[in-house]
Amino acid sequence: MELQMAATTVAHADAIMTLGGEPDVSLISDSVAVLTGDHGLALHGLERGQIERAEELIAEIGGCGFMLLGGTDGEHPAPHDHDELRDLLAAATRRAADNAERGTNRGGCGSRRDRGTRGGRVARPAGAVPVDPGAILAEAERREGQRLRTLLDDSPDTMFVISPSGTINYRSASAAQLLDPVAERAEDLIGLAPADQRSALRNHLHQTGTGQAAPFELTKRDGDSGWFDLRVSDLITDELVRGRVITVRDITIETRLRLKLEHQASTDALTGLPNRRVLQPRLGDARSAMEHTGQPMALMTLDIDGFKTINDSLGHPVGDALLTQVAARLTNAIQPGQTILRMGGDEFAIILPSIAGEAAARLAAQHLLDTLDEPFQIGARLEHVRTSIGVALTDDRDHAEALIGRADIALYEAKRQGGDTVVIYEAELESTTTRHNQITRALREADYDREFSLVYQPIVTAEDQTIVSLEALLRWTSPHLGAIGPDEFIPIAEVTGEICGIGKWVLDEVCRQLAAWIEAGVDPDITVSFNVSARQLAEPAFVAGVLETARRWNVPTNRLVAEITESAALDHTGVAQQRIQRLRDAGLRISIDDFGSGYSNLGQLISVPFDIIKIDRSLLLTLSAMREQAGGDETDSCAIMQAIVSIASILDAPVVCEGVETEQQLISLHASGITHIQGYLTGRPALPALLTPQLMELEPARA
Ligand code: C2E
Ligand code: CA
Ligand code: CA
Repeated sequence: MELQMAATTVAHADAIMTLGGEPDVSLISDSVAVLTGDHGLALHGLERGQIERAEELIAEIGGCGFMLLGGTDGEHPAPHDHDELRDLLAAATRRAADNAERGTNRGGCGSRRDRGTRGGRVARPAGAVPVDPGAILAEAERREGQRLRTLLDDSPDTMFVISPSGTINYRSASAAQLLDPVAERAEDLIGLAPADQRSALRNHLHQTGTGQAAPFELTKRDGDSGWFDLRVSDLITDELVRGRVITVRDITIETRLRLKLEHQASTDALTGLPNRRVLQPRLGDARSAMEHTGQPMALMTLDIDGFKTINDSLGHPVGDALLTQVAARLTNAIQPGQTILRMGGDEFAIILPSIAGEAAARLAAQHLLDTLDEPFQIGARLEHVRTSIGVALTDDRDHAEALIGRADIALYEAKRQGGDTVVIYEAELESTTTRHNQITRALREADYDREFSLVYQPIVTAEDQTIVSLEALLRWTSPHLGAIGPDEFIPIAEVTGEICGIGKWVLDEVCRQLAAWIEAGVDPDITVSFNVSARQLAEPAFVAGVLETARRWNVPTNRLVAEITESAALDHTGVAQQRIQRLRDAGLRISIDDFGSGYSNLGQLISVPFDIIKIDRSLLLTLSAMREQAGGDETDSCAIMQAIVSIASILDAPVVCEGVETEQQLISLHASGITHIQGYLTGRPALPALLTPQLMELEPARA
């Protein structure tokens, strides 16, 4: 009866462990054994009331030593592990032996015994069932295991134990959301990963060592895929585990967030193309691909000619829309395997992991140029753009990195040649670039007042070579680089934008000089021409700046002639035309500069408000060459000049021909109806002081 009570009382104990020899088991219920003789008893998981009761009862039933462990009263410590439990049991056993020795056990059951002999010492109470101690241990393990399992199932992580042969020996409850419960093999787990991650996952699961973690994408049973961190602990040699323990932690939310951030960091927000951060890694991929194909790889850099002008004059929304459409067209135009990136601004890069050679690369680049040649529909307007492409190729993996710089050098050369073209990198281009960099830096650091000066070249009548006007031409002597011709530094200043500041300086100096000449009393009809670049014309404040400068020097605006090239005047936006018209309205005259140097478009030219046509020296040279070919016959060359003159006369515009070096040229130009000439024949560009006496001699009031 007492024993039954003891049994019920202690039945709540979580686990029971025994140690030492073959214990005399005097009582067992579901989970309780009272071990007597020289064996200790350990119970744990009892509550306070139960502990006291158990002590009493156990003391009553047998002369055993006992120890209560892990009660919630805090006095009986819980063993941390099996080793500690063993120690505590050993202590309990010793106490049992001591008790027996001293005969302090109440009830006297088996309290005295001869050491080394067994049996007969324990009064086995009625109803007690002798039990196999192995069963007790098994039961204890079962309970312990259950407790651990509850803990595992409660954990947010999923756990698998995989045997060396690849069988899943254990899985925690949450494994069901990943793996079909009937799946038994590690391969089933591997099959949850996308095909391209499977071999990596297989290697990961088979690794030796402990605590290695790696993220994998797995498709859950509900069909959703997620990201999981798989930590592998190799416990194959551990007797209890005999396998690899895989802890699977769901990291979907943080991984998606990370991937999104990474994607954002490597994607251009406007066009959705990869951005320049991706260039190096993609070039690395292409380099690996090159090793497989054995063909060279190529990098192209592409840049829209005059994009800044479009952006400045039409506004950023139009610029953005244009870039987006350019990106879309390029994406459609490239071949599979090629990558297009937006490097920033209006610059794009295209990686060709394999290309047959230079000719093929040029063809591919030309194809892109042609694709962009078709007009773009932006809102209600049609925009035409031209593009330049620099290409660099290599078949040497060590040079893959150098491609970026080389493609840029080629692109720069393409721009230098006037754009709308493809240039393939070659080593000779390097020196140009170095010079370019030097000039760029020297220009940036230039002290305009000290380093710049203007020379003036007379424009005279073809009839009697009287000076009617002077063209201001800029000269630059850099303290670092010496004298640099405008043909070399002006195009660079146009690219860097420095030309706007330079242009202001030029106009200020022109007005200052003109004011000085007026003050000195030169012919009041003499005009001065100054050159205006497209970039200046694109500045919204340009017209106001010109007028303000003239006002400041008290120079009448009808003394000023703005020389603007055809291409700058014919900008497709119409903004240039409007600004030119505003200059004319304010009293300036407009001279169309370099006429006949590019592909002139007389039809379009009519849409530009201008006063004077200035024929470029190159046209004169072409005509001279034609005449030579025709054995001195001037018919054809004269006919061309006459055609220009007749068109100019319809428009009521005087025609100036520049670069006239010989008397012969002068005569034939005059015969063609050209009214004015400019050239070394009638006057080289000269410092103003040298011209002043000539100007003072002029009779006032000529046509
Ligand atoms: P441009 O406007 O066509 O100027 C005429 C160029 O032809 C000048 O070269 C002049 O010196 C040269 N030239 C004149 N007569 C003859 C001749 O009989 N024979 C030969 N061989 N050449 C002759 P320059 O001064 O070297 O200027 C070159 C270009 O630089 C100019 O071409 C113009 O486009 C630009 N430039 C010069 N000054 C300025 C400036 O202040 N602002 C801007 N934006 N551009 C300028
Ligand atoms: Ca000029
Ligand atoms: Ca010219």
